[in-house]
Amino acid sequence: MVKTASAQTPYKRFAQNLKHALDHLRCTPAERALFREPKHIWKNTITIVRDNRTSANFPAFRVQYNDARGPYKGGIRFHPAADEDEVKALAALMAIKTAVVDIPFGGAKGGVQCDPKNLSKREVQLLSRAYVRAFATHIGPDIDVPAPDVNTNPDIMGWMRDEYEVLTKSFAPAVITGKPLSYGGSLGRDTATARGAFFILEELIERKALNPKDLRVVIQGFGNAGAAMAQFLHNAGCTIVAVSDSHGGIYYKEGLDPVRIQKYKSSTGSVTGEYCQGSVCDIKKMKMDNVQAVTNEELLELPCDILIPAALDNVITAKNAGKIQAHFILELANGPTTPEADSILTKRNIQVIPDVLSNAGGVTVSYFEWVQGRSGEQWTAERVDADLKRIMLAAFRAVRREAGREKLSYRGAAFVLGVKRMLETMRVRGWVK
Ligand code: GLU
Repeated sequence: MVKTASAQTPYKRFAQNLKHALDHLRCTPAERALFREPKHIWKNTITIVRDNRTSANFPAFRVQYNDARGPYKGGIRFHPAADEDEVKALAALMAIKTAVVDIPFGGAKGGVQCDPKNLSKREVQLLSRAYVRAFATHIGPDIDVPAPDVNTNPDIMGWMRDEYEVLTKSFAPAVITGKPLSYGGSLGRDTATARGAFFILEELIERKALNPKDLRVVIQGFGNAGAAMAQFLHNAGCTIVAVSDSHGGIYYKEGLDPVRIQKYKSSTGSVTGEYCQGSVCDIKKMKMDNVQAVTNEELLELPCDILIPAALDNVITAKNAGKIQAHFILELANGPTTPEADSILTKRNIQVIPDVLSNAGGVTVSYFEWVQGRSGEQWTAERVDADLKRIMLAAFRAVRREAGREKLSYRGAAFVLGVKRMLETMRVRGWVK
């Protein structure tokens, strides 16, 4: 049977993008070997006692792809689809990402295969602490520094730091990033992913001499990144024509008000636990005339100028890439576009700003948080914002230069840049000639 694009696994999709970069750089077999598989794949089954006193087991992973440039770095996601292959791909993407923004980290990712929407807050806390106990020997401020990702948040990072410190009898604020502000967090970390992407988009808009007021934006995903992005773009004068969450989306040609949506979302706790406090698609109940309910699939094909996938991977595929109407795609999610879709989009002249560049604001402010944790300093919001802007724009410039010089797509150029920077360090360290 011929495997179709969608039958490919996340790690295979990553490997395809990686191969282009390795081929482009004419890497030797010894160099290629350094990128083939993660350095470590740690697996465990974690057990918690649920509120109803039954016990439940969850597969858990920490994948450490590469630490040539510094300690492993990357989030932990709680999601039913978080399996070994997905976490491997996400860990590898982190290594490219940290190299693209040139911060002194490697790449890692963690995952617990669970549906947190069915867990109580107490159960989520137990799960978070159990995760740290399971992987404590593999993490640490100089070894591997986790952070939030899909369905994980500052509270969870706080519990994890606490568990680590109790376990190791140490004071270790730099063991994890994305913590609550009152427990070693950094100003600006909560909106960092969106803020970083916003700086890139602002630069793009300026370079293309576009007017934000003429731009219609569709955002898939109204979590941490998607919701903040909607707000930044709305404030800049863009029209947010559609948003969605895991339940579905809404479309309103005249433009939606992100503040109203956010308020509505957090005031209507329809599902138990910490997650999904109300839903974006419930907005139809807000009695807004002409607001149209759309599915997450329909949303991607709506007429707009900028499409922002800000939820999960593998949503822009060979199946729908031909129908996308946006002129630009800004990837806030990790891995939303398959390589097959990429080729179709390139042919159709739709410009993609790839995840490893456009969503790197999160890990960049994580780096600032780590620096603050190690030095005991507290940066102002202005300093965080200015340094984030400087780093994001430098990375965008470097990617553009690579793309222009080598006639590559932005994704191709970002991968070449990331691999090149990783190889440079690996050579210095004597990992390869
Ligand atoms: N989970 C985020 C990402 O995918 C942030 C990682 C971090 O801050 O280490 O980039």
